[in-house]
Amino acid sequence: MSTLYDTERLKKADSASILHPATVVADVAEKGPRIIAEGKGCFITDTEGKSQLDAVGGLWCMNIGYGRPEIGDAMKKASDQLGYFHTFAGSSNPAQIQLAERLVAKMPDHINKVFFGSSGSDANDSLMKIVWYYNGLRGKPEKRKIISRRQAYHGTTIASASLTGLASFHRNFGLPIAEVKHTSLPHYYREAKPGESELDFSNRLARELEDLIIAEGPETVGAFIAEPIMGAGGVITPPEGYFSAVQKVLKKHDILFICDEVVCGFGRLGDWFGHRVYDIRPDMVATAKGITSGYFPLSAAFISDEIWNVLRDGSATLGAFAHGFTYSGHPVGCAAAMANLDILQNENLIGNAADVGAYLHTSLREALGDHAHIGEIRGHGLIGAIQLMADRDTKTGFDLKHKIAARCVAAIGELGVIYRPLPTADSLAFSPPLCLTRNEADQMVDALRKGLDQVI
Ligand code: PLP
Repeated sequence: MSTLYDTERLKKADSASILHPATVVADVAEKGPRIIAEGKGCFITDTEGKSQLDAVGGLWCMNIGYGRPEIGDAMKKASDQLGYFHTFAGSSNPAQIQLAERLVAKMPDHINKVFFGSSGSDANDSLMKIVWYYNGLRGKPEKRKIISRRQAYHGTTIASASLTGLASFHRNFGLPIAEVKHTSLPHYYREAKPGESELDFSNRLARELEDLIIAEGPETVGAFIAEPIMGAGGVITPPEGYFSAVQKVLKKHDILFICDEVVCGFGRLGDWFGHRVYDIRPDMVATAKGITSGYFPLSAAFISDEIWNVLRDGSATLGAFAHGFTYSGHPVGCAAAMANLDILQNENLIGNAADVGAYLHTSLREALGDHAHIGEIRGHGLIGAIQLMADRDTKTGFDLKHKIAARCVAAIGELGVIYRPLPTADSLAFSPPLCLTRNEADQMVDALRKGLDQVI
């Protein structure tokens, strides 16, 4: 540890002054937070000197690994050169232009335009508004509803929290907003009927989606939003045939596909983007997190040429596209993203995610595949989840009030590895930095096995 901290004083000051996000307010106010001070590679260290392997990559975002000075160097240069200028009303800066060129080159051929913001939530909000704007310009102003999936996570602003399909993000806030509807969760292991094949399950879900569209009125449904692999909702991998069946339905009813790549993008699945892994042809793509590996808050929302053409022609008559943020195209953030992309590319971290990811999944299955309380080990590349089960033969979950997932994560944390509890999905999730080594993957498996043995 390079710096000494007065942890007790910091904890008191934190409790006295900070409302923490996604936290039981009383808990942290009483006990004080855990304060993370430093990081290197896959490891973080708190102010008391305790180090752990961060197998979650912060909040699914630390793709290149902690403590890379190249990012700070690039940000300093951009800050010294300009620091900031807005991108409203026709202004731009070299960093956002270079980044945009580089990003659209990685998108499918029909996607060539990007809009910058600061978070995954604002990327989804922006795309939702663009759906409304686009359909308004096409003479279909009533085509506004967005269909998301139960248990999905798409953010916490008013619109993106509505897209989120978790009750805890709606309760006490009067959400979701009326424009958002939710359809079934494609979790084959838990949701399929006895004897139903993956393909039959996918086709049933596509029929349910179509039934919902018809019940709402296709003329009122503008878009469908989905992650390639649902992250915080349980690391749900799509069952066979799911996206091809869903896309057929969307096409039939002139409904756009918003692909939320906030977690899956920038290498997590062992490819640049999840839509490439699962043969999705998105109309819009939301990215954030891994775009800078969390070093700077930046999002990039992409739109197809078809949408762009309508916006361009429409604004000739309507005037400005009246949407944007003070920090859209921030030059320091764009410089951070460029340096982050350099590291991902030059160090072949995406290839490493595929390679070490496959090794990790195999090791997990070998070590824990027969465990009496593990129903499923799922994921792809360097993202995954361990499904806990009170009884795996009858597929009965644990009683949520016992907080088994959180207790397992606490025990594994004591053994030096951070996993993430996903209580709604009764699962423990992982999404480590893409620089993870096989040795570190072994540490993840070992701590998981020992920690689970202590609790279940
Ligand atoms: N979309 C997905 C798939 C996410 O997992 C998240 C955050 O975890 C978001 C959107 C929201 O991103 P942010 O927290 O940057 O607003």
